[in-house]
Amino acid sequence: MSNPKVGVLGAGQLGRMMALAGFPLGIRCAFYDGDLTAPAAPLGANFGKSQLDEFLKSVDVVTYESENISADLADYVAERKPIFPGPDSLRISQNRLREKSLCNELGIPTPEFRAINSLDDLENAALELGLPAVLKTTTMGYDGKGQAVLRSPADLESAWNALGAQAPLILEAFVPFVRELSLLAVRNAAGECAFYPLTENWHYEGILRYSIAPAENVDDALQACAEVYMHKLLDHLRHVGMLTLELFQTADGQLLANEMAPRVHNSGHWTIEGAETSQFENHLRAICGKPLGSTEAREPSAMVNIIGQYGALDDVLKQPGAHLHTYDKEERPARKIGHINLHCHNHPELHDKIRALKDWLPDEAPILKG
Ligand code: AMP
Repeated sequence: MSNPKVGVLGAGQLGRMMALAGFPLGIRCAFYDGDLTAPAAPLGANFGKSQLDEFLKSVDVVTYESENISADLADYVAERKPIFPGPDSLRISQNRLREKSLCNELGIPTPEFRAINSLDDLENAALELGLPAVLKTTTMGYDGKGQAVLRSPADLESAWNALGAQAPLILEAFVPFVRELSLLAVRNAAGECAFYPLTENWHYEGILRYSIAPAENVDDALQACAEVYMHKLLDHLRHVGMLTLELFQTADGQLLANEMAPRVHNSGHWTIEGAETSQFENHLRAICGKPLGSTEAREPSAMVNIIGQYGALDDVLKQPGAHLHTYDKEERPARKIGHINLHCHNHPELHDKIRALKDWLPDEAPILKG
């Protein structure tokens, strides 16, 4: 059996979990990352920054774990090896203005937004959209970085002073959402698509803290609506690999697209034990031209991120249905260093299991109050 060798740009936890998913399928990964001690490094050859050509020679197909790779690097790679997801997916998802404009062109609702190139633009847009509103950099934002919530006119100038150097910016109407959801999906080069059940996500200080999947109170119409939006994006982008769409659900049940990621995603980590085929395996299957695997959830599942400090991990190991995933990363405040997956027969029990992990959750977590 001959399988393509997969090259991953980056060697963080996403590359690590991709490589782990590849082993049983006989798919091996190599990594291109300046940090030779990165989380994925023990799982395949790791090429340093000066070894790009050697890295490319050693692999058959290239993918990435972050959309924040430079266009130059993506172009250089694309001239030498197939890279999936392809250039359209990368170009759109690297820029919030392009992302939201494309969604609107395809009939996918988003929060209202304006492009901001000056303090004047910001003042006019704040009048049009009203306050509160969220000012964001258009590129390189992640985990809530490069964002400011504007609550009163007095906030405009200081927010412009903080972020203006990175203009063009985007101003978005503040959405009083009832919850955040994500849809994870996969498409292969033949155009076959598969969709995971909607996942509910709770963020704190801009960082995902826990996910529950399948999300509760999702009827067929809501799942279908999210899938229609996703399908339009997948086909338009001729996407190959995993694509994640983050959505806000409003009080009237509407879904608004917030952002997309052309890759495996933190809100899909539950799929490792919780779905028939994990997002990591399906990403590899798609980019290697293999049949896609079932995206069905086996049981109600959850994922709790380990942020900053590992804590008493033996307590996790004692919990039935809990699965520990650590990333070999040093403890550091606000850093994602691992996650805990949970699964059990029903959602009420799942909630209890999440609550038992309160040491890994902020006191503000709604699940601890319910
Ligand atoms: P993002 O980097 O766009 O995913 O934003 C990080 C988090 O900020 C989101 O998960 C939301 O909790 C919040 N957020 C972002 N945009 C908005 C918005 N337009 N309205 C309300 N909350 C938002």
